[in-house]
Parts: sequence; structure tokens; C-alpha cells
Amino acid sequence: MAGIYIHIPFCKKACTYCDFHFSTTFEKYREAMVRAICTEISIRKNRIDGEVVETIYFGGGTPSLLTLEELQSILDTIHTEFEVQSEVEITLEANPDDIDVSKAQEWVSAGVNRLSIGLQSFHAESLEWMNRAHTVAQSIACIPIAQQAGIHNISIDLIYGLPNMDNEVWVKEIQTALQLGVQHISAYCLTVEPNTVLSSWVKKEKLQPASNELQNEHFTVLQKELLTAGFEHYEISNFALPNFISKHNSSYWKGAIYLGVGPSAHSYDGKYRSWNIANNQRYIQGIANNQPEFDFELLTKENQFNELLLTGLRAKWGVSLTQLGAILPLNKSFLKQLENLEKKGWVVCNENIVYLTQEGKSWADKIAQDLFV
Ligand code: SF4
Repeated sequence: MAGIYIHIPFCKKACTYCDFHFSTTFEKYREAMVRAICTEISIRKNRIDGEVVETIYFGGGTPSLLTLEELQSILDTIHTEFEVQSEVEITLEANPDDIDVSKAQEWVSAGVNRLSIGLQSFHAESLEWMNRAHTVAQSIACIPIAQQAGIHNISIDLIYGLPNMDNEVWVKEIQTALQLGVQHISAYCLTVEPNTVLSSWVKKEKLQPASNELQNEHFTVLQKELLTAGFEHYEISNFALPNFISKHNSSYWKGAIYLGVGPSAHSYDGKYRSWNIANNQRYIQGIANNQPEFDFELLTKENQFNELLLTGLRAKWGVSLTQLGAILPLNKSFLKQLENLEKKGWVVCNENIVYLTQEGKSWADKIAQDLFV
């Protein structure tokens, strides 16, 4: 079983925090981009040869800017080149300002059965501060529109840990999401990434990022509200109602193989990880010349060990010591570190599987780093 990720590198506006690969001036070459993506699917299909495709994920960028014809041409190419499972999960990332009744119906007619809406907030000041292209009214209206069109697997993204965001605002964000009846919430703590507007504000001392304490408080509130509402906390940043976990993202975290197409997209074939050039013109040119530009690395034993550790710890299924030991023998310092973390109450070990405790979830990345080889 395998997944396919398609990166659509178009956006209407640059959000202040975003370090993904995208362009806001794409109209002149959008056709060439979609053609290149279809060609790449055909020329790189051997990366996941013989595998049945069980998830397809349109990410970006902003895939909801694709026309129906563009979306359909990519899906048709996938269906031509691969065996696709009949129950395939097809997710499209969409921004609230792109969602209207006819567009949502078009997506359903093309086979999209899961929407991941990048609404980030229901709070006007926060949306403006993040330079989002949509309004609060659009954040709220887009969900019933998608539901009426027949999409009953809806995820939304929310961002917390904004400077000066008090707990009251954050609780209201979560409660609004719950009232709208979504099945899945991905909640991300705001981080200041290099080469973003936020990082330039920090450098110029125009911005003081939120303290770790405030971010932890928001995370604690998030867990409490969503667990009370019946959501399962299945990955550090992801919560789902029963039967609504993201199959596509879960397969990354379980180490499954996938093909990523489009500029900057990553792929993994079980041994090698590769990533396409993050430059739209060079990507299109490379594909046209039948010389796709990408880099790759062979995962060392240490890489494999650390990745399994990080992704497993962050997820509800934990990380198996047997599986880790099959990659590299578990040495004394690793076992000692694990014992320390257990004493602190941050991890528990049950039948050879290590899980984060409720408290440990606030320190997931630090815990993994303490255990890395
Ligand atoms: S957050 Fe999404 S919409 Fe905003 S710039 Fe990044 S990819 Fe584009």
C-alpha cells in the first residue's frame, strides 16, 4: 500500500508564518505546472511500482485554486498509471475563501472525499496578523457549505501560541470549531521559521514570540477541550473523532512508502528519501527535458532509528523497542535515558512499547531528542 502526495505551489497571499514552497504569481505558468505534475507522475511511477494506492493528498500551497479540469487531469493520470484502491482516501487542502457550493460539488464529483481546511482561526485580529486571505465569516461559512456538498470528513487547521493570544480567545477558537461539527482538527503551535515575515519581525525586534509557558497552557487547554468533546488525540498535533484519523498522514508516521510530485515534494521508497527542487520554473523545465531535478539520501541506520522514534513517540501507537532494536542495538545510554524519562513521568513502557504520558506530550520533541542516537 502506498500514498501519493501532490504539491500545488500556488497561493493568493503569503502568510506571515509560512515557510512552505509557494508562489503568488503563477497565472502565466499554471497550465505548464499541472502538465509537468502529470508528466512527473508518469515518469516516476516506478518509485512505488506494484503498490496499490490507498491515499492521495493534494497539499501546498493552495490546491483549492485548481480548476476542476486541472484537478481531474491529475487524478486521471494517477488512475491511469496506478492501481488505486476502491476505498481510496482523497484529501484536498482548501482555503475558506475558495470554498463555495459549486466548487465543493465539483470536488466531490472528482472523487475528493476529505477536505483539510486551512482556516487557522475564527478571530479577526489573528487572521489579519497572519495575513490570511479570508475573513472570519468565511472561516465559519465554509464548513456547512462543504457538508452540504456531501463532504463528511472535514479537518480544519488551527494555530495557537500566537503572541498575546489569551486563553479565553483560544478556548473560543476551539469551541467554535466544535460547534461547526468537524471530524478532525490539526492544531499547530506557532513557530518562527527562518525566511518568513515573522522571522524578520523578530530580527527587527518588532515581535516577541509567545513564551513556552503560554504555548504549553494553550496545548493543555486544547487537549482538555477536545478529549471532553470525544476526540482522540492520536498524534501530537492531530485529533480525530472515532474512524476519522487521517490515513494519509498516519502512513507517513508509520514509515509507509509514498510518492511526492510537484516542486519541493518529498518521496520515500523504504530506503531512499528524495525531494524535488523547490523552484517552479526549474521544476517545469526539468520535467520537460525528462531530467527531473531532485536530491536524495540513503537513510542510514541512525536516521531510520531516529525517525521511527520521533514519529512513534508522537503518535498514540507509540514506539516498539523491538522494532528499534532491530535497526540498531539498544545501548546502555539509551536504556538509562529511557529510565530517567520514565522516572520523570514523561513516558511509560508497556509490553515493550514506549508511549508518552499526558505530561510527556508537552515535551515530545525534546524527549525524542534525548533518546536519539
Ligand atoms: S499557509 Fe498556506 S495559504 Fe498561507 S502562504 Fe503558506 S501555503 Fe499559502
